Amino acid sequence: MRAMVMTDRPDGLSRQRLSPHERPQPEPEGPFDVVVRVAAAGVCRSDLHILMGELPVSVPHVLGHENSGWVHAVGPMVSAVEVGEPVLCYPFVSDGLSGPERRGVDSAAPGRRTPGIDCDGGYAEYLLVTERSLIPLPADADLAAMATLSDAGLAAYRACRKAAATLGPGSLAVVLGVGGLGHLAVQILRSISAARVVAVDTRAEARDLAMSCGAHHACSPGELAAAAGSEAAAVIDFVGSDESARQGLASLSFGGAYFAVGVGGSLTAPILQLVANETRIEGVYVGTYPELVELTQLALRGDVRPAVVPYRLSEADKALTDLAEGSIVGRAVLIP
Ligand code: ZN
Repeated sequence: MRAMVMTDRPDGLSRQRLSPHERPQPEPEGPFDVVVRVAAAGVCRSDLHILMGELPVSVPHVLGHENSGWVHAVGPMVSAVEVGEPVLCYPFVSDGLSGPERRGVDSAAPGRRTPGIDCDGGYAEYLLVTERSLIPLPADADLAAMATLSDAGLAAYRACRKAAATLGPGSLAVVLGVGGLGHLAVQILRSISAARVVAVDTRAEARDLAMSCGAHHACSPGELAAAAGSEAAAVIDFVGSDESARQGLASLSFGGAYFAVGVGGSLTAPILQLVANETRIEGVYVGTYPELVELTQLALRGDVRPAVVPYRLSEADKALTDLAEGSIVGRAVLIP
């Protein structure tokens, strides 16, 4: 029996299962609404943060903010997509009218919805979005792989685009954490820069994945100082911990940039060190629709190949547990 996983308590891992019969598929309500039949939903560490009550979001709702599928039903004004078309779901759903959206930064739109974060998401068979949030895909696109682009890939891509501005040919880029985002970042850096890429992970199998993704060198955190010295022009931190931040800053060369993507820990540094080294520190939050379109092109031409670990939708609990235990190499997706 297929089941949907809902968060029902902000203070623990308890979840409520509802069968599709108890929760009917959504209908288009607004004129620009689209119901997507879910092909795949990525399993993100943010889902664990929501389940543990560590993110300030309202519950209960269905998880899943990294989705792909096929257009199932459309509102009367929808013109950008057609029923049956495969689509990638940009994670933010909004009307496009606010100042941030007009500047292309939907992630900062005050009235946005983020399915799976603050309303029902894609750990389900159907998902309600609007046409503005959809990217049409070719009929032969691998929808399980494409789903991972909409959040994991997008945040990695935005970080790599920012980093690439400082990465000359032969300069050093350090990727901290080779999980669902980091393994994509290695490939993106190889695709859009001529930098030397060093990937860091505690797990040997993740280091192997980094090498297969094109890293020039992979090492454990304890080996980073020997591998990178203080030569990195850019560090992208997908771990997010006191220790990863400390190591990241220590790896930077003069004028180097540290990009924080993973959420956790605190960053502290002597201001003298920041001044003397002209260090830049920048957070990266998901990405823009145009960036997701660009990343989709990289994936469609084979430059970025997500390492997908598929689970059935009914195995959502196991996928989340495996993610929490660090046993997933690549990105888990749920397939209804
Ligand atoms: Zn996420």
